[in-house]
Amino acid sequence: MGAPQIHNFINGAWRPSQGKDWFESRNPAHPGELIGLFPQSGADDIEEAVTSANRAFAGWHALGLVKRAEYLLRVARLMEDDTEPLARIIAREAGKQLNEARADVVEAIHTAQYAFSFGHLGQYGRVVGDEVPTKRCYEILEPRGVVVAITPWNFPVALPFWLTGLSLVLGNCVILKPSEYTPMCGAKIAGYFEQAGVPAGVFQVIQGFGETVGAPLVSHPRTHVVLFTGSYAVGLGIKQEVAKHADKVCTIETGGKNAVLVMEDANLEMAVTASLLSAFKTAGQRCVTAGRLLVDSRVADRFTDQFVAAANRVTVGEPLDEQVFYGSMINQQGVEKGLHFNEAARKEGFEILLDRNTESPPTPDGYWLKPFVYTGAWRSNSVCLTEEAFSPHVAIVPVRGVEEAVAVYNDTKYGLSGSIITEDYRKAKYAEEHMRCGIFYWNLPCIGAGVRLPFGGVKQSGNLIPSAAGLIPVLTHPKAVTYNLDPTIVMAQGLSAKIT
Ligand code: NAD
Repeated sequence: MGAPQIHNFINGAWRPSQGKDWFESRNPAHPGELIGLFPQSGADDIEEAVTSANRAFAGWHALGLVKRAEYLLRVARLMEDDTEPLARIIAREAGKQLNEARADVVEAIHTAQYAFSFGHLGQYGRVVGDEVPTKRCYEILEPRGVVVAITPWNFPVALPFWLTGLSLVLGNCVILKPSEYTPMCGAKIAGYFEQAGVPAGVFQVIQGFGETVGAPLVSHPRTHVVLFTGSYAVGLGIKQEVAKHADKVCTIETGGKNAVLVMEDANLEMAVTASLLSAFKTAGQRCVTAGRLLVDSRVADRFTDQFVAAANRVTVGEPLDEQVFYGSMINQQGVEKGLHFNEAARKEGFEILLDRNTESPPTPDGYWLKPFVYTGAWRSNSVCLTEEAFSPHVAIVPVRGVEEAVAVYNDTKYGLSGSIITEDYRKAKYAEEHMRCGIFYWNLPCIGAGVRLPFGGVKQSGNLIPSAAGLIPVLTHPKAVTYNLDPTIVMAQGLSAKIT
């Protein structure tokens, strides 16, 4: 049986693309396995989707918060029933180990449930008092219109929900452009919305590449919000394009060079576990991956011995195998980028503690990288210490005390996530208050975010507008409403209403 050809989901139907070309999605652990063929969409598909979304907007808005929210609950239930097959698609298409893939689905379900609950609570907007007691003042959060969600491959189901759940409940229509490396996951999401009976044009998926689909959706005059998650370079370009449109807003969630800080008094077993999870889960291909372990020099030797021994035991292999610690890289470019960073650590004169890339790969033709660990003093001009490697590549950097650890943490252009392992609440509090980051943990890995808190970074990790629970002000604009209950007009600030 050949691989399926899967169309775009536009205006409530699986619409053949106007373009004739298809692109392939392949299993990165077994590139011989073709998962599906997807359209290389173009201008006509984009026009059709944008027109459908704008047409659907008034009816979707008129449905009201609670009814809109109920669709998200239906979608969540459909995903619950399909968790296992969907997790297996993620594992096959993104190379994520099955347990991680399942967590991706659960995160998506929780996000859809969160969006539903938000709508059902119906608590949005404020009622405020006025200087004139006979006036009633409140704000209505109006949806902005058509939201474009552009997502990366590494959370191929969870991330689209982070960006679309609240968008829809708040009354916007959504066009999702999934990563070209995980189009099957994007198509599956469209399928749940179709099964849930979401009205035509309210949720659409267009497949294709960044330049030919993502960029035209961003610059289109009839799209109103761009929610982007991906690399800094692309995010910056999107922000610059959005700045040309007075009525368009965007969020960009980009990369990081995150760290785990291990203090002198840390529970070392916890520190090693937190560091392994932070450095190597998803083969280091998370925006919140720790590329740096900043360890107090008084425990650095002990920590290093234990961490390197554990990194040596970490199992890398078949994503569908529940027992492995992490699966494959997404593609050959990901492998090359990781190897480039490993080489940079050598060239920059760091001491290499572990490089398991001489071991035979789990499959001969798959995309694999094994753990790479090195150590040396902090240098702010080092490429491998300061740039995002997006691979299982981690440095152990000795520091002295919490103040130096925090100063080193802050000494990169990124500011996404960080954690501190310490038994001393004063050190934790110092780190919480002085680390320039969007996401902070105490005695935890620096990965593992949930939807109930905002998610985002500072500096080159994003434009300070977090996603998840932090998105509401981006997805709506507040309309200020004032009613007068008095038979006469009384103006505020003592302004005379007398007609003379
Ligand atoms: P990427 O920037 O290459 O691609 C992300 C998405 O943008 C894809 O859908 C792609 O097709 C699209 N795109 C590419 N060029 C575009 C353009 N010119 N205009 C519009 N859209 C365009 O990123 P990736 O390789 O898929 O993901 C890895 C990056 O994502 C890493 O830097 C990682 O840190 C980051 N990331 C950030 C977060 C976060 O929340 N901060 C979460 C996950 C991943």
